[in-house]
Amino acid sequence: MAAANTKKGGQKLRSVLGEEEADKVAFYHDWCKHCNICVAFCSKQALAMDENNYPQLVAPERCNSCGLCEVLCPDFAVTVPARHRVSTRRARKKKPDIN
Ligand code: SF4
Ligand code: SF4
Repeated sequence: MAAANTKKGGQKLRSVLGEEEADKVAFYHDWCKHCNICVAFCSKQALAMDENNYPQLVAPERCNSCGLCEVLCPDFAVTVPARHRVSTRRARKKKPDIN
């Protein structure tokens, strides 16, 4: 199984952005059927298809680690590592008090 982020593009991205940012989303090319769902539904426009029609994280700074791409991928080809996820409890604490 090959992970996209370990291939050429991913390695370049890592060297520019650092390990932490580039690892926010991992793709498993062997399981990807190029349906574009992950790219289409990312509300932050952090993903795009590359020249080989595989998704890649093109704007890690925009990715908020919501995990939607992982949930929506019908082929389990996307992983958003738990270490990047913002827990619901932490997210609730960040919300401003509107009362
Ligand atoms: S949703 Fe899954 S199968 Fe579809 S393009 Fe993205 S990674 Fe590939
Ligand atoms: S985790 Fe959320 S913001 Fe980041 S690439 Fe996936 S859908 Fe987009």
